[in-house]
Amino acid sequence: MTRVSAIAQVEPLTTARALRGPFDYARPHGVDVGSVLVVPFGRRDVVGVVTGLADASRHDVVAPRDVLEARLPPALVELALWMARDLCSTPARALALLLPPRGARTKTALWAAAARAPERDERLTPRQRALLGTLPRAAGADLAALRRLEARGLVRLGPRPVRRAPAQVAVGARRASPALTSDQEAALAAIRAAPPGGPGLLLHGVTGSGKTEVYLRAAAETLAAGRGVVVLVPEIALTPQIVSRFAQRFGDTVAVLHSGLSAGERHDEWMRLRRGEARVCVGPRSAVFAPLADLGLVVVDEEHDPSYKHEGDPRYDARRVAARRAATERAVLVAGSATPRPESFHALRRLRLPARVDGRRLPPVEVVDMREARRAVHPRTHEALVDARKAIVLLNRRGWSNFLSCRSCGQVWECPSCDVTLVLHRADGRLACHHCGHRERVPARCCACGSISIARHGTGTQRLEHELAGPVFRLDADVGDPARVLAAFEAADRGVLVGTQMVAKGHDFPDVELGVVLDADATLRFPDFRAEERTFALVTQLAGRAGRGPRGGRVLVQTITPEAESIRLAAAHDADAFLAAELERRALLRYPPFSTLVRVVCSSPRPAAAQAAARDVHARLAAAGLAPLGPAPLFRLRGRERSQVVVKAAERAPAVAAIGAAVDATAAAREHRAAAFSVEVDA
Ligand code: ADP
Ligand code: ZN
Ligand code: ZN
Repeated sequence: MTRVSAIAQVEPLTTARALRGPFDYARPHGVDVGSVLVVPFGRRDVVGVVTGLADASRHDVVAPRDVLEARLPPALVELALWMARDLCSTPARALALLLPPRGARTKTALWAAAARAPERDERLTPRQRALLGTLPRAAGADLAALRRLEARGLVRLGPRPVRRAPAQVAVGARRASPALTSDQEAALAAIRAAPPGGPGLLLHGVTGSGKTEVYLRAAAETLAAGRGVVVLVPEIALTPQIVSRFAQRFGDTVAVLHSGLSAGERHDEWMRLRRGEARVCVGPRSAVFAPLADLGLVVVDEEHDPSYKHEGDPRYDARRVAARRAATERAVLVAGSATPRPESFHALRRLRLPARVDGRRLPPVEVVDMREARRAVHPRTHEALVDARKAIVLLNRRGWSNFLSCRSCGQVWECPSCDVTLVLHRADGRLACHHCGHRERVPARCCACGSISIARHGTGTQRLEHELAGPVFRLDADVGDPARVLAAFEAADRGVLVGTQMVAKGHDFPDVELGVVLDADATLRFPDFRAEERTFALVTQLAGRAGRGPRGGRVLVQTITPEAESIRLAAAHDADAFLAAELERRALLRYPPFSTLVRVVCSSPRPAAAQAAARDVHARLAAAGLAPLGPAPLFRLRGRERSQVVVKAAERAPAVAAIGAAVDATAAAREHRAAAFSVEVDA
């Protein structure tokens, strides 16, 4: 007989960076790696996850207070520990991301089932006979009558789990799949032949080229082989179509996981996946943690989408986590996009779907030179908007105007906590900071000189909504329900959809004749090495939304830098040339995928403290031979001065470990008590 390990090593889910487990507890019967416990910790009880087992402890151990219902698969415990190392975070923070919602439990209802058949001469009222004929079912209003039958041994009453099903999955008839095109067949064959746990594949095809159909077929084959499937999508609210297509093809086998669900729904979907009742999980970035036991396929749809990056700690990138899961759980990774990232193009084998399934050509894209223009909308664009029955206009700026200034003294309205200008939101009569959420009343007069002459500069989506001829549908982060706006635009037979980059995502409207990008330079001006990539993707993605109907379509891109490569090549629909040029530039400048970029941000409410801390971090990194860049000041945010140090590391793991050590040492120094530190790997 093998000995049963008596000790459970538990990582308590506290957020304190200095407190690292695991800690030893007595191991109750049935507890294993992945079990979620409530343990006494200091003077509190905290939730913790079992990350290992041991035969003995060097300390006296106490028993956990409780064992919770959810249990992580051991592979996910491993994944969390890897994330903590890979992203310079803590095991507790990484594990916390993987658990189902706390506090939610399986809901049960009392069910009645037949216990035995009545004897032929057994005396039953007609009502009792009728009741027996309806079994099994929920007890409900007939509970008293059923209890009497239970007492006679005819009925068995007991609790049974009730599923709280999310709305998206509750769809009607299943839909059959069409015969594949030869390009789709070739892609599917390559996916079928891909080595499990290998680097994965990149499905590169324009919008409407049939990528989703390939995912569906690959998923069907994976399920037939008895394995599970994870499908990642950018944002459920903006891409309901792909969820319903999976649900229509695979029915109840599909679970969805996203933040729009109630805690009960999320708990039930999680448990269905955990028990193997659902074997396909569709959802945004956090669905990469779906508790599927035998994962065979991971799909990342619209793999270029920035929403795959999580902004909390750990700052995980769901695409990197997906690749890790595929590698360790021996699954096949398929990333799809019309505008793949240079990183994916570099690392993955590419499968090409070169044409739209319906045979329609991509719409011609015209670049509109705005260097001499006086208004936000060029006369040519204006004319095109008047002509088009349905159009989409992208302007990556929320609100009414980007800033206000006094015409008499030049005073500019800025956020009291951040070094940025306040944006006018005219509808609710407020100025708002888009970084910290600060809001204040629109001024009637200048607070510096008292003048009532205040100028509004620039155009945001709200002002555009007001200025364009209707009907206008606005879609940005300030509208409550994006799905409603999209549905209204779809149902309308004419109109303009105006909004931020949200309008360029996965929707499929057949009758949009015109796509417009206003101020394409807004993304290009961003001080980020991904600015070119983003601009190319935005223009190309918007072009993919236009001209899918019988009347065809066209796209106009307004810019003050018509010669910029990202705009020129997007207009030419030349993704290959763009990717080649972009990779060459990145290799030259040693940007990802040719390095790992790590950013250390030091911040403090005290002016000089952030700078001093950053100088100290810089010195330690230089001493470790990491050739850090900086320190460079960042704009003040939420009342905190900030300063950053950047490392371009050739080798990721040792660099991350060295940076973690340097930050910990700096944070521990007395003179930096007023500073806080955040490490962003893959910044
Ligand atoms: P993508 O994901 O690349 O945008 P989809 O898979 O959504 O492309 O395909 C676009 C449209 O063409 C969808 O309406 C889909 O149902 C249809 N479609 C896809 N593949 C085929 C096929 N082989 N035959 C007929 N219709 C198809
Ligand atoms: Zn003034
Ligand atoms: Zn602010």
